[in-house]
Amino acid sequence: MVDTVIIGGGTAGMTAAIYLLRAGKKALILESTALGGQITASARIENFPGLLGVSGVEYADRLAEQVYEFGGMIEPVEVNGAEKTAEGFLVRTTDGDEYEAKSLILATGAAHRHLGVAREEELAGVSYCAVCDGAFYKNKKVAVVGGGNAAVQSALSLAELCESVTLIHRREGFRAEPVLMERMKRVPNITIRTGGVVSGLLGEQKLAGLELQFGEQRETLEVDGLFVAIGQQPNNEPFKALVALDEAGYILAGEDCKTTCEGVFAAGDCRVKQIRQLATAAGDGAVSGLAAGAYLDSLED
Ligand SMILES: Cc1cc2nc3c(=O)[nH]c(=O)nc-3n(C[C@H](O)[C@H](O)[C@H](O)COP(=O)(O)OP(=O)(O)OC[C@H]3O[C@@H](n4cnc5c(N)ncnc54)[C@H](O)[C@@H]3O)c2cc1C
Repeated sequence: MVDTVIIGGGTAGMTAAIYLLRAGKKALILESTALGGQITASARIENFPGLLGVSGVEYADRLAEQVYEFGGMIEPVEVNGAEKTAEGFLVRTTDGDEYEAKSLILATGAAHRHLGVAREEELAGVSYCAVCDGAFYKNKKVAVVGGGNAAVQSALSLAELCESVTLIHRREGFRAEPVLMERMKRVPNITIRTGGVVSGLLGEQKLAGLELQFGEQRETLEVDGLFVAIGQQPNNEPFKALVALDEAGYILAGEDCKTTCEGVFAAGDCRVKQIRQLATAAGDGAVSGLAAGAYLDSLED
């Protein structure tokens, strides 16, 4: 039995491991795909303190090196369930393996919903995060897809940097808060287009424009960047019987990272929170690592 099994080897999970290991606890990370998590898809990080310009993969490698330096263990497995037992917790994987732990940290992150158009994953110039990538499009033409707060906030922040922003929404009505809508309507370089979808991406290796479909009518729009803001999907399905989730599937845990199940902590993008970024995931990693350490100490009292 290990002290803490950490599910997810992104920024939150690896930071939690570093804190636990440095406190003398045994921590095991279970990671299903790429160590480092979502950020491995980013070519350049510019807003994480002290790491200007490194790639997502380089950043992830450095984090993993730090985990190994302190004696952390990492297993490449996908977790499909976890339950409370008399001794602690039992974690199951899709390969049929089981791991026992005295405490758990859930750090499974979230995935951005994709549009589902051809070449979306291949073309440079398609982003899912205006906060992360907006600065690369200074004085350029961009489009944003979506109708919620995230899409409108993305359009507003991009409008401060970019020559023009076209907001494309498939419905006539927006889900975004009225105050944001009013603000957006006053910004001269934002054009709102409703009732249409992005049906194709133009350009060879780099995005050069969009093919848009408005009912029967098809048109093209020249843009340098496309920001997809149609929501995120948290990876919390395997834990819905263990901890409480909100309606969107995020784990109900506050700044203390404590979930509804004692001994289980949630860190990073997988929990209910306003800002999902590397810095906030790292913050949660520290808080959850220290909280799990205190919980482990309390078991010995
Ligand atoms: C393209 C892109 C660019 C970005 N750029 C920036 C940026 O420049 N600056 C910034 O601050 N933020 C950026 N972000 C956001 C940032 O990456 C996230 O906020 C951060 O990665 C969250 O960290 P996390 O550890 O909570 O989750 P994640 O990074 O999502 O890590 C979760 C990990 O858990 C694993 N996992 C999930 N389910 C299971 C399971 N059942 N079993 C085992 N493992 C599992 C996943 O494989 C993943 O590796 C970007 C995001 C994207 C997608």
